[in-house]
Amino acid sequence: MAIKLVPDLIVADIHDITPSLLIDNNIGGVMVDLDNTLACYNEREPGEDIVEWVKSICDSGIKLSIISNNKQERVDRFNAKLGLQFNVARANKPFKRVYVEVARKMGLAHDRIAVVGDQIFTDVLGGNNVGMYTIMIISKSRTWNSLLAMRRALEMPFIKQYERRLNKQNQKSKTGV
Ligand SMILES: [Mg+2]
Repeated sequence: MAIKLVPDLIVADIHDITPSLLIDNNIGGVMVDLDNTLACYNEREPGEDIVEWVKSICDSGIKLSIISNNKQERVDRFNAKLGLQFNVARANKPFKRVYVEVARKMGLAHDRIAVVGDQIFTDVLGGNNVGMYTIMIISKSRTWNSLLAMRRALEMPFIKQYERRLNKQNQKSKTGV
């Protein structure tokens, strides 16, 4: 089986993911990563903007769960203000099991679920492998270190591949072919 490392969509920030964007793509549920996606590593509780974002998604009838490889305590503390269901800590992304289980709890087909995260080798790979719509967030991290820089260097060929695909699509829609 081919390894699928190119996301369906790349956005700068979580706030670019609006209810209408999800609804336009027939998405009924979202599995969102925590670290460097909803929050920086040192943010233990969600900011007001994240509380608002979560509310806007849930109010539109879309199911939302946090799926994180971090500890249970980290996820529980962050979720205290949000009250989301079916969250999973120590999720072992990119392995399939967690995605399949949460999809079943959400009661949704895989192609109606978006996986949102900042890492190609966990979030995007995991979501792509189970046929979900994958959205990569690229700008949340404010604490840039050598490990992150190395990871991003490894991810870059796949980000470039995404950009080439996007350019092709834009070209096609301009010329109408
Ligand atoms: Mg992350």
